[in-house]
Amino acid sequence: MSPISWKSVEHAVSTKLAYSARVLAEPWRYDLDKLESAVAAAEELRSSGRKIGSEQLANASWVVHRFGEAVVAVGRAYTHVRAGKHREGWIALVDGEDALNALHGFESLSPVALPVDWLLQHVLQMQKPFPYQLFASSGLKIRKQVCSICGSPVSPFTDCGHELGGLYMGERCGAVVLDAELMEASLVRHPADKRCVMLGSSEGGIVRDHHNYRAVDHLFANLVGPFARFQVTVSTRHYPPTKFQSLSADRLCPCRSGETYGRCCKGKKRIPVEHLDMVFEIPAPGARVIKDELL
Ligand SMILES: [Zn+2]
Ligand SMILES: [Zn+2]
Repeated sequence: MSPISWKSVEHAVSTKLAYSARVLAEPWRYDLDKLESAVAAAEELRSSGRKIGSEQLANASWVVHRFGEAVVAVGRAYTHVRAGKHREGWIALVDGEDALNALHGFESLSPVALPVDWLLQHVLQMQKPFPYQLFASSGLKIRKQVCSICGSPVSPFTDCGHELGGLYMGERCGAVVLDAELMEASLVRHPADKRCVMLGSSEGGIVRDHHNYRAVDHLFANLVGPFARFQVTVSTRHYPPTKFQSLSADRLCPCRSGETYGRCCKGKKRIPVEHLDMVFEIPAPGARVIKDELL
């Protein structure tokens, strides 16, 4: 058996990584299966990089893998929403947003330029028509946390040498909370974790979702694929209360404050309503732009 040189392994790994990165950089050209296998390949190459001790390869694979996770999350969100699973779709979009934000400052490590900013804007645009206004947020008192790279305790008085958020051999350094106490839980408008959506009333153990998903459905029904280009612009229009005569006081207020109509805008002379304007770009065949107005 002839000995394999690390150099040739390194070369083979980088070639494979560049291939996966090229697929993920143009996700609109491939189906979800192909994208998912590119993500799995990047994850495998990350462990190969670690095995041969190449920090550069391990870190580059981490970037491609994380970007790929965002790509796949957008694909999943598209499938979920079109199947009527709005909350699952929303969570996938937040997963995508988190993956892309984690890449900040590391994009240049990828062997192929990745459209990180474009995909982040795409994800945020997809989130715009969702009706969620209130989120659950928890306050924690942390008793013990350790460095995810070396396991040393993290506190203001210790320094293990690893920087929080830094990349080490294809791993992002974070603080792992081992012991914490829940101090409070509250409802907030700008949460740290946008996945904690308040769904609404619970009746006999079954949670009923009172949100209006009309605008979300409209957006996703008109997108020809998860990466089709579109634009949502939000503006505010004012309507007389007669427009909402049939709206009962215990429903969510049309101004999207998160309050019930009765406790918020009922009785006002003009009621502010968010207006979503969606523009879809259908690339081929016979490219045309459809302008659509909602509410
Ligand atoms: Zn450490
Ligand atoms: Zn209101």
